[in-house]
Amino acid sequence: MDLELLSRTLSELGEPSYRLRQVWEWTAAGAGSYAEMSNLPRALREALAQAVPFSTLTVEHEAHASDGTIKALMRTADGRPLEAVLMRYRDGRRSLCVSSQSGCPLTCRFCATGQMRFGRNLTAWEILDQALHFRRITEVDHCVFMGMGEPLMNLDSVLEACRRLPDLGITHRRTAVSTVGWIPGIDRLAADPMPLRLALSLHAANPALRSELMPVNDRYPLGDVLAACERFYERKRRMVFVEYVMLGGVNDSVGQARELAAILDPRIYKVNLIPYNPTDVGMQGSTPRAIDAFREELERHGLSATVRLTRGRDIAAACGQLAAGALSSEAAIAVGAGS
Ligand code: SF4
Repeated sequence: MDLELLSRTLSELGEPSYRLRQVWEWTAAGAGSYAEMSNLPRALREALAQAVPFSTLTVEHEAHASDGTIKALMRTADGRPLEAVLMRYRDGRRSLCVSSQSGCPLTCRFCATGQMRFGRNLTAWEILDQALHFRRITEVDHCVFMGMGEPLMNLDSVLEACRRLPDLGITHRRTAVSTVGWIPGIDRLAADPMPLRLALSLHAANPALRSELMPVNDRYPLGDVLAACERFYERKRRMVFVEYVMLGGVNDSVGQARELAAILDPRIYKVNLIPYNPTDVGMQGSTPRAIDAFREELERHGLSATVRLTRGRDIAAACGQLAAGALSSEAAIAVGAGS
């Protein structure tokens, strides 16, 4: 819902200022239409339905996995595709993975989204409407910006959306913004008063390998990125999550775990190892044995390391799969892996 358009429309209709709050309260609580907003006059509900689309997005396809994960392929009003995922965990968590851009201008080699043509930055309302779509299905309590796009290249919209997420039930402390290492954005995020979490997609400690996997490393070298993450930690006193996708035979040896441990301060970083979900970009995931050995080596060096639970693999909603097929097949949603 475009809240700027809503606000303008309400004032053109001569409505009192509290109407905006009323409409937003219903929407954030999961209402499915203006018609449900029983404390608004009927004529106003009808006028709003004509003037302000209830969502800035249309849902083109929704895929349901056997583990309860739902992946939605959506389109903006100007036809740009994007994807968002709801993950349900056994411990009761309901976590959203949202996109900040349609496609992505960066070209990480392992990432399905990076192979798509970049569309544009999403507006704050287009980001919020992804969350609102799932809020209409269930209560939600966590959000990660790990769908399509590099969130810190679209930080104004990301922050505007984050300001509203608590109204849906997602606190700032349960919201994580992921980046490949866009330094100006990390510093801005550190300066923002919201206690958002920062996640860094690292994927290789060796500079040459990292540049090969993530060309952005040439622009913002890892040493400078880690210095920015450490400034974030100093300012926020919040540990930084390191995301490390496990690519078979590429970045998953015990020696590479040692290289990683050598550059990460265990007081500042926690490592999240991500089993790679093969897409059509020609890379393979590591074996469970290689992942275990890698984790054990990190822990031997005092780093806290976990292996991410894979959700939604049977519908290509797992990390790294977002958007892989969205453009090649209108019917298939393939979600790419965000930053
Ligand atoms: S990993 Fe993130 S930054 Fe890299 S291409 Fe994919 S969406 Fe873009």
